Amino acid sequence: MPLRNDAAGDNLRKAERFLARFRDGVVAHRIAGEEVRSGEAFDDLDPHDNSVLCRVAGGGAAEIDQAARAAEAAFPAWRALDGEKRRELLHAVADRIEARAEEIALVESVDTGQPIRYMAKAALRGAENFRFYADKAPAARDGLSLPTATHLNYTIRQPIGPVGVITPWNTPFMLSTWKIAPALAAGCTVVHKPAEWSPLSAVVLSEVMSEVFDGAGLPKGVVNLVHGFGESAGKALTEHPAIKAIAFVGESVTGSHIMAQGAPTLKRVHFELGGKNPVIVFDDADLDRALDAVLFMIYSLNGQRCTSSSRALVQRSIYPDFTARLKERVARIRVGHPLDPKTEIGPLIHSRHVDKVLSYADHARSGGATIAFGGGRAMDGAGNYVCPTLFTGAESQMRIAQEEIFGPVLTAIPFEDEAEAVRIANDVRYGLAAYIWTGDVGRAHRVSESVEAGMVWVNSENVRHLPTPFGGVKASGIGRDGGDYAFEIYMETKNIAIGLDRHKPPRIGV
Ligand code: NAD
Repeated sequence: MPLRNDAAGDNLRKAERFLARFRDGVVAHRIAGEEVRSGEAFDDLDPHDNSVLCRVAGGGAAEIDQAARAAEAAFPAWRALDGEKRRELLHAVADRIEARAEEIALVESVDTGQPIRYMAKAALRGAENFRFYADKAPAARDGLSLPTATHLNYTIRQPIGPVGVITPWNTPFMLSTWKIAPALAAGCTVVHKPAEWSPLSAVVLSEVMSEVFDGAGLPKGVVNLVHGFGESAGKALTEHPAIKAIAFVGESVTGSHIMAQGAPTLKRVHFELGGKNPVIVFDDADLDRALDAVLFMIYSLNGQRCTSSSRALVQRSIYPDFTARLKERVARIRVGHPLDPKTEIGPLIHSRHVDKVLSYADHARSGGATIAFGGGRAMDGAGNYVCPTLFTGAESQMRIAQEEIFGPVLTAIPFEDEAEAVRIANDVRYGLAAYIWTGDVGRAHRVSESVEAGMVWVNSENVRHLPTPFGGVKASGIGRDGGDYAFEIYMETKNIAIGLDRHKPPRIGV
């Protein structure tokens, strides 16, 4: 496809330079600091035209075992490292990410189909995640002092051991750093299994980390990377006895599988799962800002975003006008090549995902909703391009209002009053994020308290502040990331009680 402008052409040429090495041979795992190419290789496809981007080594139980053993062997040295030293090394990782940010953004954009306008920031967010947790490393062990008259009780936190990190394909680099950085700051070693549909930025991340950690004279294997499918590599990781916890980001149903797979070895799990997040727009809101936020939170990142506002609950008094304005803007969203800086929606990750997303147009029709815009493919050719889609006149029990579509598809549902808005908002199995637009501060607080969600933004789109907790309730997750919360999965809390002289143990057999 000819790119429409010079900037896009430049990006493509640069991306090709960075991708050339992946095209040459099989993309390797990195285990104990070494590139390993065992396992049956699989194709990584380019979402733009479904051509083979490269071949990737497909790991299984054997590669996971090697990686888990390497992480286990590196654990004592990494755990023993002074927090200040860990801080320094994690900042060094961030420096190297920044130095390769353009490469990461371009590679990730091609590999995932996500528009470059968002990926450039995602690469830098990865560096920020490392800096944030670097600075938390020295105090990660800190606990509480809980004295009594007879005992000095104090708690310390200790790293749990080698952990498995399993990540999805939507924004893989940012999400991987979001998990790996706190694990390392806590003192854990890591085996990372990235998504099979977008494995490439994980390779760059593993190189960057390996340079820093191996260069510091640590045992190789502080972080290991194994590619492969969920049912093989992912499953083996969740079952491995040396792996003490699994930090997982992905679909809710996969979370259930992981819990079952991890049960025999009593794995600790931390889950960031799916969402069907409501954005509730009351008639007293600043409707111009609300409109911008509603559009951004579903049509950015190809709608392949866990916190996307995929259900617009709009008060009936403003519903006709607000949905008309939505439609007008949706019609102007630019679908195009992911490397074109003007592109607002790129190709979806995989042809199977396109089929899933487009099946909801049929569900909309058969359920009795209106397809106000889109509902089909966009652009000619073999790529995974779909039109931004708006469903109106939906009701809460419809599949388009209940299921996570994970594409650029918005379902607009009218509501009468506050009580009905809350009822519809909570009428799904998910509970990740909720967005509320109102000019009434009392209502903002009431509705925030009543919506079943781990995170609420009032009069704002999703704006992350790293110290705040991130995670979901119901089928959207278990546990919280962000700030100190992330250490709850990667660390064990130990209580130490020291009896004072005045403590007299009970006497028996006297
Ligand atoms: P997915 O669950 O299909 O796959 C995620 C990862 O799990 C992949 O690496 C996959 O190989 C692996 N996997 C699959 N089956 C496995 C098994 N049985 N055992 C171990 N690992 C297994 O998810 P996806 O389609 O890659 O990603 C999209 C989903 O991720 C959406 O539901 C989205 O909402 C969710 N997500 C959630 C958040 C969040 O923070 N809550 C963030 C991003 C994405």
